[in-house]
Amino acid sequence: MDTRAACRIFRALARFYPEAVEEYPACGDPFPVLAATILSAQTTDRQVDSIMPDLLSRYPGPASLAAAGTEDLERIIRPTGYYHAKARHLIAASRTLADRFGGQVPLSMRDLLSLPGVGRKTANIVLSACGKDEGIAVDTHVFRIARRIGLSSGKSPDRVEQDLLALFPWHAWGKVNGLFITHGRTLCTARKPRCGECPVRRSCRYYRSL
Ligand code: SF4
Repeated sequence: MDTRAACRIFRALARFYPEAVEEYPACGDPFPVLAATILSAQTTDRQVDSIMPDLLSRYPGPASLAAAGTEDLERIIRPTGYYHAKARHLIAASRTLADRFGGQVPLSMRDLLSLPGVGRKTANIVLSACGKDEGIAVDTHVFRIARRIGLSSGKSPDRVEQDLLALFPWHAWGKVNGLFITHGRTLCTARKPRCGECPVRRSCRYYRSL
């Protein structure tokens, strides 16, 4: 697929889901975004949302989380699963933020990737939340939809991201994740995509193969 075709697909989806491509809100504190994204591995947004108020009221920032007791933190985040590893990552990342970044979440890919437990997907989500995109966050929805449509045949999130970065102009990067998540939750679901209602079905590799 070439850039023009990819951009046509982007525009069609953006018209279909206008709420998914609204402008960024002013960037508030990126720390809750970072913590929520670390917690989001292997669980649902709903589970993460359910524990975030407790987490932030007890540990509102890197300084307090860096000094957290492991057992207390695990008790709060337990519903999100893999809570031993997630607690370890949250405390280690917070200590690095406190020690090396003055307690602030840095807004560059290189610095974010230096934090324990932070990979490209998490870094991209934090940067995107602040309108500082340096890439495209490839989560399960973006990975599935990019491959179904034929925007990429990559077998890893990193490969799919590189293909998407080459197809879309930089100013669209921050909107691809939200757009594809919305599409993945609405029509292009993992099990039974509702292709008959999809605005990009005529350009979709999966649909054309049916
Ligand atoms: S046509 Fe079907 S598989 Fe292709 S993007 Fe639309 S919903 Fe997904």
